Amino acid sequence: MSAIIMDGKALAEKVKDQVRAQAEGLARTPGLAVILVGDNPASRVYVNGKKKDCAQCGFYSEEYALPVETTQQELLGLIETLNSREDIDGILLQLPVPAHLDEQALLHAIRPDKDVDCFHPYNVGQLMIGEKGFQPCTPAGVMRMLREYGIDPAGKRCVVIGRSNIVGKPQALLMLRENATVTICHSRTQGLKEECLRADILVAAAGKAGLVTGDMIKPGAVVIDVAMNRNAEGKLCGDVDFAAVQETAGYITPVPGGVGPMTRAMLMENTLLAARMHG
Ligand code: NAP
Repeated sequence: MSAIIMDGKALAEKVKDQVRAQAEGLARTPGLAVILVGDNPASRVYVNGKKKDCAQCGFYSEEYALPVETTQQELLGLIETLNSREDIDGILLQLPVPAHLDEQALLHAIRPDKDVDCFHPYNVGQLMIGEKGFQPCTPAGVMRMLREYGIDPAGKRCVVIGRSNIVGKPQALLMLRENATVTICHSRTQGLKEECLRADILVAAAGKAGLVTGDMIKPGAVVIDVAMNRNAEGKLCGDVDFAAVQETAGYITPVPGGVGPMTRAMLMENTLLAARMHG
């Protein structure tokens, strides 16, 4: 058996086309401001991608590329200005920020109705209690992929590897919301292989290349690889040994071309939602 490969790239294009069509029906063009501090090359690539996505969706976008020595006060001032601007619906602070800055304080300064990354405690709380609103982009992208491929998590055993605030925990919450029976694994989990073997849906988000091997997969399972690692040759790869796992799994996401493009598409959906909320 060879797994069906879930094409996140194609689906992301479809989602962005839908977002564009919906944005055209709004009275005002949605606007996204992206703040980048310092010169991290990976962050630069991500910010360029977000600008491109905005153009594709017909959004207005603004970039603030600030020097590494930018102070907390200067950033708080900028966020305050963007918070009060009517043409800006979403504010995104590209992470990580340089070490001298208080990342949490900056994220908490973004107005919750402009927090398109869904990192503000208000939005995290809303997610926790199952209210409507923003969903964090990566886990939301995973759920959208499942829906697109007709995979209903209800009643299924879902194992999430990773418990970070941006991927693992919200992923588990979204699976629970869709009525999966959820297990969260992390670096202290005993018997990771046995936990994974029980999974109908396995989401790997540890950031450890080669962590999930072919003998850890229940036949026919859905395997979602969120991670983005570099292997010994410097090539982008996930946590999952793709070649071995695809022999046993029913569905599998590739890296690249799986969850990554979906994350970007969900940011566009969140910006559209923010624009709708702002009327
Ligand atoms: P993170 O904050 O470093 O969290 C990693 C999690 O994995 C932690 O909870 C850690 O456990 C757990 N873990 C580490 N080694 C493990 C092991 N050997 N066995 C079981 N669990 C283990 O990372 P993150 O921000 O969640 O990101 C995870 C991965 O997803 C990274 O590769 C990142 O680049 C990628 N990512 C991709 C996208 C996308 O769009 N595709 C978006 C965001 C992140 P402890 O809590 O015990 O330390």
